[in-house]
Amino acid sequence: QAKPQVFITRRIPEEGIKMIIEYCETEISDFDGVLPREMLLKKVKNKEGILCLLTDTIDKEVMDAAGPRLKVISNYAVGFNNIDVEEATRRGIMVTNTPGVLTETTADLAWTLMMSIARRIVEADKFVRAGKFRGWEPLLLLGTDVYGATLGIIGFGRIGQAMARRASGFNMKVIYYDSQRAPSQVEKELGASYRTLPELLSEADFVTIHVPLTPQTHHLIGEKELKMMKKEAYLINTARGPIVDEKALVRALQEKWIRGAALDVFENEPEVEPELLKLDNVVLAPHIGSATYATRTKMAIMAAENLIKALQG
Ligand code: NAD
Repeated sequence: QAKPQVFITRRIPEEGIKMIIEYCETEISDFDGVLPREMLLKKVKNKEGILCLLTDTIDKEVMDAAGPRLKVISNYAVGFNNIDVEEATRRGIMVTNTPGVLTETTADLAWTLMMSIARRIVEADKFVRAGKFRGWEPLLLLGTDVYGATLGIIGFGRIGQAMARRASGFNMKVIYYDSQRAPSQVEKELGASYRTLPELLSEADFVTIHVPLTPQTHHLIGEKELKMMKKEAYLINTARGPIVDEKALVRALQEKWIRGAALDVFENEPEVEPELLKLDNVVLAPHIGSATYATRTKMAIMAAENLIKALQG
């Protein structure tokens, strides 16, 4: 029996590739970077499975280019806003993602970003490297206490709840907003209280975003919401860039509506709003939420399993 043909849009950790090669006739893109659209459209032709990344837009056109044999789109990510799931479903194509395995790793990064902006670690590092350190100073690089502060979690799913668990070790007050209120048992266990979005924004010292990008969450945080935040508060976004209106955020940081922000994701990745680069009160990371050796390997295995299971029917 012929092996199913699959296309992998970019090299992922070997553990996943090995599993796929065993079961499938596998073509892996050797292009160094995000696969250009024309190449993607050409490569998917007649494939039964595609393993793709969040940087690949998989829409109707790609599904047309693949043709009627396409059975599964396996995304190497938990977020799947890069895929037109409705269109795939209409065609009976299964869409899979890698939930769970990256939860703690992404929460670790969100926590790191929060600590980094609160304690001005990036500024401090630059300061020392520039040879400006002249000894202990009473007013040097003063920041904000995380311990005992109020953490506002927007999106109380896997990663949002992982943030709440971390917060208990820091004696933080935890409040959350979600379109679906968590069961009271979960609220109790995690010591988290529900708030409306305006309530959360006006109460939190640190606001951290963990909702998926959907039409409902696009620009969920814009000028109005940033102005509801405390002047001493910080915004952390490790979810998806377009959830925050980046232009409004730039103004918030320039005009000090809030004290700072830390971002792992950007509205027009890989482009970064040039004004952000000029500001000291923001920490920037290049979408590395799940980027640890262990987690990227687990994601590769899960994405491979998803692909193979779907092809086996
Ligand atoms: P999840 O599905 O477990 O949690 C998402 C939560 O958001 C759910 O509780 C859901 O009810 C809530 N939600 C959905 N729509 C909402 C809305 N309109 N308003 C309010 N709440 C809403 O997902 P997760 O595993 O916690 O991941 C969250 C997101 O984080 C992913 O969708 C992904 O985009 C992003 N992410 C980023 C990285 C990174 O590298 N920076 C890594 C992993 C995940």
